[in-house]
Amino acid sequence: MLPRTEINQKLQSTDFDLIVIGGGITGCGVARDAARRGLRVALLEAKDFAYGTSSRSSKLIHGGLRYLDQKQLGLVFEAVNERRTLQRVAPHLVNAQGFLFPVYRHSPLGLCYLKLGLWVYEALVFFRVPKLHTSYNAKKTLALEPYLASDGLSGSPLYWDCTTDDARLTLETALDAHQAGAVLGTYRKVVGFVRAENGNLEGVEIQDKHTGEKFVVRGRCVVNATGPWSDRTRALFGMQGQILRPTKGIHVVVDSKRLPLRYAVVLHHPDDGRILFAVPWGDRTYVGTTDTDYQGDPADVAATRDDVEYLLRSCERFFPDAQLGEEDIIATWAGLRPLVAADSQNASDVSREHRIVVEPEGLVTIAGGKLTTYRRMSAEVVDACGDILKARGVSGFSKDSGTQHSPLPGAVGWSKKDDHQSMAQKALTASKGAIELDTAQYLVDQYGARGVDFAEWVTADSEASQRLIPGRPEVLGVVDWAVREEFAASLSDVMIRRTQLFFKEKNQGLDVAERVAKRMAALLGWSPERVMSELDEYRDEVALSRKWRTN
Ligand code: FAD
Repeated sequence: MLPRTEINQKLQSTDFDLIVIGGGITGCGVARDAARRGLRVALLEAKDFAYGTSSRSSKLIHGGLRYLDQKQLGLVFEAVNERRTLQRVAPHLVNAQGFLFPVYRHSPLGLCYLKLGLWVYEALVFFRVPKLHTSYNAKKTLALEPYLASDGLSGSPLYWDCTTDDARLTLETALDAHQAGAVLGTYRKVVGFVRAENGNLEGVEIQDKHTGEKFVVRGRCVVNATGPWSDRTRALFGMQGQILRPTKGIHVVVDSKRLPLRYAVVLHHPDDGRILFAVPWGDRTYVGTTDTDYQGDPADVAATRDDVEYLLRSCERFFPDAQLGEEDIIATWAGLRPLVAADSQNASDVSREHRIVVEPEGLVTIAGGKLTTYRRMSAEVVDACGDILKARGVSGFSKDSGTQHSPLPGAVGWSKKDDHQSMAQKALTASKGAIELDTAQYLVDQYGARGVDFAEWVTADSEASQRLIPGRPEVLGVVDWAVREEFAASLSDVMIRRTQLFFKEKNQGLDVAERVAKRMAALLGWSPERVMSELDEYRDEVALSRKWRTN
């Protein structure tokens, strides 16, 4: 990665075709698509890639089964096609996952209705599903998931969808944009717009959090991909009114020993019948989500006690023997759905579709969308920029970015024959004994085929192969990798979005934070004061995620 000052120089000295504001999945997708079409692209992110909603989702690349119930067939097809594309271009990050849908005597949807619905769904999408569904009677269901409530259980269909690591999907999209020539700047917040006398956009003014510099980045067209911040960004541009109605969703994480699951389980919440998921996540299980209106600053979004109790009530109903309580919760995360505003009383009814708003002065806002369809939505956004670009003399860029066929960086070298186990064996062999199998598995699960490169590299640095925490697979070298290969620029980037220790480690990584900060300091030349402030910021992030315990 280039040093910060050099990136700033590039940002100041280049006349960009397209400036993308926001480094969530949408902004990174737009930057990737545009750079692959041959446009000169800058992406500016106020914090880290996936700092916002894109690291706080339910982590599902879903085939839109629920849209069938709403008779929105267009959304079903789009989701199914994109799921297949993402499985192809990111096989290391988009993994098939079985979803067990237990049906009880008083469930809102009967067993026959669900089975029929699944047949209709699979036939409609020409059986383009990770695996065909099956169905189990009550006895077999309980044999598969012994923690499920048995009282009144009729049976359970098992259907297949996909899960992902949302922050890594975003990061790999950013890395590919970078490889295609986009200039990426994290911790560079857009604080204003620059206009010509006729009102047309000429660029944006940004502030670099780490150097304090303020400067102008010039570009012909600007994409506002700031998710839940979209209306605030439009207000900076002078636009009034709201195009978003954000709703909040939270998840809780527990030890998988407290709620061991073979499959993800679909739950109907006992209070309101909303659908929730309990999802196995390696040595953890997460449960979510909620759906409530939210009006505050997106940066302050956090789980409340009410949110947590709501999720625990569904666990109590469906997994009574687990007896999950507040003390079992290792971590929480809270995110805002950047939903397009609609006249609706009920937050769950607000449309999940996206909307592209083009201002003739050169600002294109993308609102809404979801992780699953980000690639296709990004292409639409770049298409929408086309007229503005042409009007400003930019021509010769390609109509198609080819992202539907281009593997993300971790999928390069991951052949059709490969799977997570075989790749872990390759990484183990490449490491020549420097790491153990659990670490090799972790590396390929995280980095895909690049995990094998990591394992090779670690042979030359014995300190890098030391475990960060006894019993956990992460090694010290992941810190170096995050800084050198993955744009990590703050302690929270490494702890939350590159390693996920924030969610997965029992004390949310607080016990190892100083060691990580010092390693980063050695790599990035941080002063002791900077180390202290990084630690403080990380502790603040942890405190925000635990706020529900005290209010
Ligand atoms: P964000 O990820 O929020 O990115 C916006 C970025 O803009 C942020 O990083 C922010 O720092 C940056 N920014 C803001 N202001 C500025 C500025 N002035 N200058 C520079 N940068 C700025 N979708 C699915 O497909 N599957 C799911 O399972 C799923 N589950 C979900 C569960 C929940 C609880 C939620 C909330 C959403 C879920 N979604 C899911 C939807 C999906 O996560 C979002 O649609 C998607 O992540 C939005 O990405 P984004 O890039 O638009 O916004």
